[in-house]
Amino acid sequence: MKTVVIGAGIVGVATAYELALRGETVTLIEAHEGAGLGTSYANGGQMSACEVAPWAGPEIPGLILRWLGRDDAPFRLRPKMDPDQWRWLLRFLLRCRTSARMERIPPNLELALLTRERMASYAADFRDAGRSLDFDRRDRGILRIFASEHAVRAAMTEMETMARLGVEQRLLTAAECVDVEPALASALQRGEISGGLYSPSDASGDAHLFSKHMAEAAKRRGVTFETGTVVEEIIARAGRAYGVVTSRGVLDADAVVVAAGAGTAALLKPLGIRTWIYPVKGYSVTLPAPEGNAPEVSITDEARKIVISRLGNRLRAAGQAEVGGYDLTLEPGRAASVLNALTSLLPQAGAGADAAEFWCGLRPMTPDGSPVIGRVEPFSNLFINSGHGTLGWTLGAGSGAALADLVCDSAPQLPLSPFSIRRF
Ligand SMILES: Cc1cc2nc3c(=O)[nH]c(=O)nc-3n(C[C@H](O)[C@H](O)[C@H](O)COP(=O)(O)OP(=O)(O)OC[C@H]3O[C@@H](n4cnc5c(N)ncnc54)[C@H](O)[C@@H]3O)c2cc1C
Repeated sequence: MKTVVIGAGIVGVATAYELALRGETVTLIEAHEGAGLGTSYANGGQMSACEVAPWAGPEIPGLILRWLGRDDAPFRLRPKMDPDQWRWLLRFLLRCRTSARMERIPPNLELALLTRERMASYAADFRDAGRSLDFDRRDRGILRIFASEHAVRAAMTEMETMARLGVEQRLLTAAECVDVEPALASALQRGEISGGLYSPSDASGDAHLFSKHMAEAAKRRGVTFETGTVVEEIIARAGRAYGVVTSRGVLDADAVVVAAGAGTAALLKPLGIRTWIYPVKGYSVTLPAPEGNAPEVSITDEARKIVISRLGNRLRAAGQAEVGGYDLTLEPGRAASVLNALTSLLPQAGAGADAAEFWCGLRPMTPDGSPVIGRVEPFSNLFINSGHGTLGWTLGAGSGAALADLVCDSAPQLPLSPFSIRRF
């Protein structure tokens, strides 16, 4: 069976690779000149199975109001004359209930654990082929630090929920945070840490390197990878997809998978499909890791709203959320605020600031914080694997495996109903 996969980010390459493992004839189409050059290029690097709660939660409306009008605010709304933005925002706000947030944790966790399993299996495939799947992976866990006692108490409640689901997390005192990650010593001295939540089984790594290596591995398994090719239209009528119109011609297919990240909604809209995926812009900064006291453990600073990951001899910090449409202009002020947050927590990182590389990308977000994985009705052979929002690196490989099973008519390794497009 000939399957076209649109988009070569984390999700698309994992899907193409998984389909190839199942014996499919796959063409992977990507607008950029290579894999992982969209939102998967320079994300926060956290593979955070133990932290899969959606962003939408009871504290969010208050934070939005508090940050209104502040240019460097971690969350910014830029109203557009776009009904899709307003519909999305309304849905997002309706999800800002504790019960709605909690409801999403078990399915996201199941998908994240499948992702862990698939990533281990990919590494084994590479080893069997005498290669190494090297993406600066670091298995040192993720430490969330909190600046107030109130935040520590909220984390305790979360930890209890996760413990009921079998997830191991440890609540740490401020001093214990520094035992786990000595690079935080100066933050402790400044009195900025009240406590932390440590998830030892989580990991971090470079999603761009992963996407690049996996696309190469997919090619070795027979996948045709067409780069620099834009899908302009999905040819579909009378309940079936027949192929795609690309900037280089028409391609027939027996099945089409849309894994186009923030480009997904535009591809499906002409077919009358509303995906509920809207872009939320984020920023990152990558700089040389300071010598001697660079963090080994990936850090989430709850107060500064940034995540930090060590990627080989580089350090990356990421943050910011702007609901403002598809504009990918990098605003120097917003980018600098991520760097400032990093160096105010870890002053030692300032040594590499001159070599800092700034980046921004569009998280393909659903209002409820879970991706959309499944068949796109009424089309029997059109599939979607998108909307991974803040968790694409954490959920991407499992999503690829689950969708590949569905395309091949096998039973997916986890229930896909929580990820169905029909839930909206
Ligand atoms: C600042 C920031 C920090 C983040 N940190 C983390 C983190 O720490 N952990 C985590 O789990 N997640 C994180 N994320 C989220 C994660 O990066 C995304 O969820 C993930 O990259 C989405 O992958 P994707 O494959 O769906 O999309 P993409 O990587 O964007 O891939 C989609 C691809 O489709 C292509 N495409 C689109 N339309 C077309 C078309 N018409 N024709 C051809 N090609 C097309 C695009 O060029 C693109 O390459 C972060 C995101 C941001 C922005």
